[in-house]
Amino acid sequence: MSWTWRKSGNLTFLTIPKWQAEGINIGFSTRVGGVSRVPYDTLNLGLHVGDNPAAVLENRKRWLDQWGVSWSESVVGEQVHGANVLWVDKKNGGQGVRELRTVIPAVDGFVTQDDIGLMEFFADCVPLFFYHPDLKAVGIAHAGWKGTAQKIGQRVLELFEEVGGRTEDAWVAIGPSIGPCCYLVDEPVVNQFREQFAETPFLQSQGNGQYLLDLWEANRILLLEKGVCSKNIDVAAICTADNPEWFFSHRRDGARTGRMAGWINLYKAKS
Ligand SMILES: [Zn+2]
Repeated sequence: MSWTWRKSGNLTFLTIPKWQAEGINIGFSTRVGGVSRVPYDTLNLGLHVGDNPAAVLENRKRWLDQWGVSWSESVVGEQVHGANVLWVDKKNGGQGVRELRTVIPAVDGFVTQDDIGLMEFFADCVPLFFYHPDLKAVGIAHAGWKGTAQKIGQRVLELFEEVGGRTEDAWVAIGPSIGPCCYLVDEPVVNQFREQFAETPFLQSQGNGQYLLDLWEANRILLLEKGVCSKNIDVAAICTADNPEWFFSHRRDGARTGRMAGWINLYKAKS
């Protein structure tokens, strides 16, 4: 089964049963089940958005508890809308999880073969999740329009290839983000995509130099271009801007809003 809603205790989130059955914890949080106040209500997991840090840490604890891991068994990076992806392992455990100053700098994607949880934060940007069955490796990437135009998803697959993982065997999941229904962009953004993609069927002109951008399809196309099999791509196709009861949205709410978390770890790596 592809992306599925799940309720567990206070939390409601999205997961993929097929991945869970392979020994992978995969999840995308909603805003439900936390302690933050307006406009971060309630499960804001971002420490960098102006929310009360004590509330964010309580929220993060609830999220980590869901996956059965401690503070030191996860890692967080400073997301900068780039295409830098890094191998991490247990030694990185705890970086950025309880405070901003220890985040791994300037990185928008992680891969690991170790039993460490990879966590990134989102409020419209596309969360990409990766699993390589032969390598027993997982990955995560933060792909807003800039990361998507820079093809960060392909960069993750290149790191797998460098250690012998064939791209045609990789699994990829595209989580909730702002959808083609709501994401209006202008010419400077469009031009970046025209430079990087042979064709841009994911852009729909609305006149006046405005376009609707389908980041799900742009990412799906760049994954297929790299050699991922269509059957191995799970697209949630859930719009963050259209669902204020479930999700924060930067485009809808402005800068003062919360963040959802994307999560992935190999729970079967634990001995
Ligand atoms: Zn929408």
